[in-house]
Amino acid sequence: MKDFKPLSRDEMRTILKARRALGSITSIPCTSCHYCTEGCPQQIPIPEIFSTRNLQLVHGRVEDGNKAYAALCEKGPSAADCIACGQCESVCPQKIDIIEKLQEIAELHA
Ligand code: SF4
Ligand code: SF4
Repeated sequence: MKDFKPLSRDEMRTILKARRALGSITSIPCTSCHYCTEGCPQQIPIPEIFSTRNLQLVHGRVEDGNKAYAALCEKGPSAADCIACGQCESVCPQKIDIIEKLQEIAELHA
């Protein structure tokens, strides 16, 4: 500890910035267990939709996420088809606010 040098102001600022940036990454903590999909009356591919959003949230791959979502929902149900019945949320072990997340995703792709 004899040679210990405290961080400079600039170094400290850089570390704080990095911590703020990392803290702002919020993925959807879906494990793709599919418990939610069996009883969905709209047959919405919930975990697959969340996966397209996580591409954007975690990896910053906005275009890839948009393309993956478009391909996924091209012929089938999309986030916008959710009727908010709540079945999925009642069985999700991750306690994800699925309805709210789907609404957000539907708005992003409206
Ligand atoms: S709330 Fe939406 S996504 Fe969940 S089961 Fe009902 S229709 Fe499907
Ligand atoms: S039940 Fe929850 S964790 Fe499992 S796939 Fe559905 S949203 Fe993801």
